[in-house]
Amino acid sequence: SADAVAAMLERIKADNVKFIRLQFSDLTGHPKNVAIPHIQAEKALTDGIGFDGSSIEGFARIEESDMVLKPDISTYTLLPWRKGDAKVARFICDVYLPNGKPLEGDPRFALKKVVAEAASMGYTFNTGPELEFFLFKMCDGKPTTQYQDVGGYFDLAPTDLAEDVRRDIVLALIEMGFEIEASHHEVAESQHEIDFKYGSALQTADNVVTFKFATKTIALLNGLHASFMAKPVYGINGSGMHTNCSLFKDGKNAFYDPDAPLQLSETALFFIGGVLKHIRAITRVANPTINSYKRLVPGYEAPVYISWSASNRTALCRVPAPRGNSTRVEIRSPDPTCNPYLTFAAVLAAGLDGVKNRITPPPSADRNIFKLNAAERKAAGIDTLPGSLYESNAALMEDELICNALGPHIIENLNTIAEMEWDAFRTMVHPWELDQYLSKY
Ligand code: GLN
Ligand code: MG
Ligand code: MG
Ligand code: MG
Repeated sequence: SADAVAAMLERIKADNVKFIRLQFSDLTGHPKNVAIPHIQAEKALTDGIGFDGSSIEGFARIEESDMVLKPDISTYTLLPWRKGDAKVARFICDVYLPNGKPLEGDPRFALKKVVAEAASMGYTFNTGPELEFFLFKMCDGKPTTQYQDVGGYFDLAPTDLAEDVRRDIVLALIEMGFEIEASHHEVAESQHEIDFKYGSALQTADNVVTFKFATKTIALLNGLHASFMAKPVYGINGSGMHTNCSLFKDGKNAFYDPDAPLQLSETALFFIGGVLKHIRAITRVANPTINSYKRLVPGYEAPVYISWSASNRTALCRVPAPRGNSTRVEIRSPDPTCNPYLTFAAVLAAGLDGVKNRITPPPSADRNIFKLNAAERKAAGIDTLPGSLYESNAALMEDELICNALGPHIIENLNTIAEMEWDAFRTMVHPWELDQYLSKY
């Protein structure tokens, strides 16, 4: 509204903002931005700012490469690491075509569409992602995989040398409006986790993108590389992005039913049923890199088998202990290389399918499923997650419901990206092959 724009322009002036970054996300979840001087703020907030979208991954359709960025006023924040009097602010934007229609390839739009479907059923979808990452040393300006510290789970200084860096990251995030709930050293050497408060899926997806670039920026200012790669080092834990999910209806958590077994409502069980039904397709977006599949292997606290449980951390979907308004389903397969907009959109579409079609999940797997052998898993009806990007992409192409939820523009581009990456990977001669075969044959 005109009032909101006027108030925003006042705020920009009061904050002494000189530059404004208009940020959006490409199909792979990478943040992109264009900077405008503050005198363009009014135009940006009213008409939007035009740009050439043809070079953005997953946006390209040559015939419609002129695009317009429209800032979402609620996403205004200063970039706290830009010190000095002249401040830099940023907005997260929606991407439009010159004809005024939203760009179908804009991941934020894809999430908004599924969120609107949930709203038409009376539901708000809340997500609470837990991002893990490594802090690695830099050498000659390039990232390495050398550990910055050799601490372990919940360790504290002096083992946890990265404590100060983590504190700087938390402080920057707080300045940017995050409500931080906890930060700690993770299981692996140099691995960390910072948790922020759950919120609506759209707001949280925006937060994930901001979280990653703020973390990278602060790490760099400390001479370190923050990596969100899924499995940067063989033989130790990879990094996950556990995603806690809940549906709210009329301000109440629709997953909670005090009188039901486990105090889980039918809605919660059906949601799990839908997610498990579509998880192989969801994996294409929740685990989008070749490397993502090196994490989804037994032995490193990452899920492999398609199952759910209220107690067991080895399950793909876990229901953490809290109930009441904190009742939630934690999906443990996503990793932080994912595009959070697409991941939340796919998860929500699957969950709503479960709720609408009353999809009952299989019995909960309360044993350690990693201890079962293949025959026992088969008898228990436990299938596995896709083992590669090739497999998950094929699963996505076959899943009509998820394809419809993301729309043909996004699906076509995801398919192209996966085929290109898979071909590049499978035709490459890897060091492992030389180690194994060069002297032997
Ligand atoms: N790093 C593990 C993963 O890959 C999770 C470890 C944990 O948070 N308990 O998902
Ligand atoms: Mg955690
Ligand atoms: Mg963790
Ligand atoms: Mg967790």
